Amino acid sequence: MYYSNGNYEAFARPEKPEGVDKKSAYIVGTGLAGLAAAAFLVRDAQMPGSHIHIFESDPVAGGACDGAFLEKYGFVCRGGREMENHFECLWDLFRSVPSIETPDVSVLDEYYWLNKQDPNFSLERAIMSGGESAHTDGKFDITPEAATQILKLFLTPDRELDDRPMTDFFDDDFFKTNFWLYWQTMFAFQKWHSALEMKLYIQRFIHHIGGLPDFKALKFTKYNQYESLILPLQKYLESNGVTFEFNCTVTNVIFDITPEKKVAKQIVLTRAGKEEKINLTENDYVFATLGSNVDNATLGTNTEVPKLKDEPGSGISWELWRNMAAQDPAFGKPMKFCGNIKETLWESATVTIDKTIAPYLEKCCKRDPFSGKVVTGGIITVKGSKWLMSFTFNRQPHFKAQPKDKVVGWIYALNNFVPGDYIKKPIVECNGIEICEEWLYHMGVPADKIEEYATKHANTVPCIMPYVTTYFENRAAGDRPKVVPDGAVNFGFMGEHVETPRDTVFTTEFAVRTGMEAVYTLLNVDRGVPEVFASVYDVRVLMESTMKLMDGRKPLEVMLPMILPILALLKYKIDNNVVTDLIKKYGIM
Ligand SMILES: Cc1cc2nc3c(=O)[nH]c(=O)nc-3n(C[C@H](O)[C@H](O)[C@H](O)COP(=O)(O)OP(=O)(O)OC[C@H]3O[C@@H](n4cnc5c(N)ncnc54)[C@H](O)[C@@H]3O)c2cc1C
Repeated sequence: MYYSNGNYEAFARPEKPEGVDKKSAYIVGTGLAGLAAAAFLVRDAQMPGSHIHIFESDPVAGGACDGAFLEKYGFVCRGGREMENHFECLWDLFRSVPSIETPDVSVLDEYYWLNKQDPNFSLERAIMSGGESAHTDGKFDITPEAATQILKLFLTPDRELDDRPMTDFFDDDFFKTNFWLYWQTMFAFQKWHSALEMKLYIQRFIHHIGGLPDFKALKFTKYNQYESLILPLQKYLESNGVTFEFNCTVTNVIFDITPEKKVAKQIVLTRAGKEEKINLTENDYVFATLGSNVDNATLGTNTEVPKLKDEPGSGISWELWRNMAAQDPAFGKPMKFCGNIKETLWESATVTIDKTIAPYLEKCCKRDPFSGKVVTGGIITVKGSKWLMSFTFNRQPHFKAQPKDKVVGWIYALNNFVPGDYIKKPIVECNGIEICEEWLYHMGVPADKIEEYATKHANTVPCIMPYVTTYFENRAAGDRPKVVPDGAVNFGFMGEHVETPRDTVFTTEFAVRTGMEAVYTLLNVDRGVPEVFASVYDVRVLMESTMKLMDGRKPLEVMLPMILPILALLKYKIDNNVVTDLIKKYGIM
């Protein structure tokens, strides 16, 4: 497997790998990683679809990318996806997946046209409690001290970031900035999370710094991601003969491990409550998703509080990873990620509202929620709220089956264990009505209407996800296994807890990338995996993002006034060359 970029590799079709017709594949998990692995096996490794079997413990495909109307609950999405144009592997996949809405176009075509015609941007990024603008006004408000802290992390080599939390680099100078408010609520980072992942994020998305305050950096699917991404992908795979087995849990993979090689010998699984075993040869490949961040997620209703499953390491995906990891240290350390639920949990809620509540939403986001176009354009954060609440409403309808007079959105909190501003309980102890009341309060609904609106004009489905930020837990080299561990003959690991250089976890892209890397490596597909977009190595992007981060102030003037005379002298010396042209273009000096 190798990385590449550019059109030559993007449009090339790999030759059929030798012997692929004699091989078969068993995939664990129908999240994006598992489905992507199956699709790359079909399209690029050219394995017959009938040789590919996918096991899924849920009754439907998609994993974290869900979206459904559930009889007992109502409309539910546990999460929603902010996406961007440089999800290289994801778009490489979806260019080949036919749309299920429009004949003869791909999912990528459809997405591209939609986001061209109705580009995303927000008109209000943050409000104060009561629904008035928080007037962050697109500013990052970075002080010289905070800038120095960001720069220090940016320049620290990865090898020095093992097991170090963000608080090793940042103090209140940084945590009080608008930059942190935007960043934390957009990506769900907490102060105790990995400094390494924070650094990777800054570098990975450096080309979007200017688009952070108003989210013009982001793109969204037409409906929820189950309907817009998972269903077409599942249909594409089924039409190619791939078989899906739902309600089927893989509990272990048994390996034969010698110093020379590691071979997957047997899959242990539970079908309809009965344990079964599948024996494997070296021509039978296993692709296993490691650790799902929606494992053990529980739902509540308007009147029921979701039951928290708080036993660290429990849940089918974690149990499988723990069983495999017990066989070889090269298979990683799952408990580093799933062992501290208080650090990794947060709660979201899907809220369905009617025309009584919609005007309050419209006042906050400054757009008509029923227009069929971008609504909030990304999350709106309630600055200073005790739960640190954000909410978002995408283009409506968000579900194909949604009634025309309803609007469906998503609320989430980052402070999950403290009482709220209106509801004096932590969100994890609240039912749907209480969460909705807290939200209505922040949107400025008059106190005498809050209870009636939350009860009669909204349906709110809370969802506790104990593992939702496991990806961001502090880690050291070796805690996440390689996609294909050294010596592995017929198996690979995928999902968001494996190693791949420079890419950032908690993204659809990361899941697809790891599926692609596993397939290309094991099946010897002779085509480059698109490298992570290399904007961090582009001096133009670095200059532009520096200027944006400093709200247009010249960074050298702000941070280093004493060296300005020297720089002025240097400028004189280097005038009339390309570097000076760039410095001038981006206003650095
Ligand atoms: C709330 C939330 C918000 C998000 N926001 C964004 C965002 O804004 N932008 C973005 O790009 N990404 C976002 N993501 C991340 C992205 O959705 C996920 O990282 C990605 O979908 C993960 O795919 P996956 O295949 O690795 O794992 P999952 O989607 O977790 O799928 C794993 C699947 O494997 C199955 N499985 C696991 N173990 C077994 C087993 N032993 N036997 C049988 N089946 C098994 C599980 O049931 C599950 O269906 C978000 C995720 C969540 C939860």
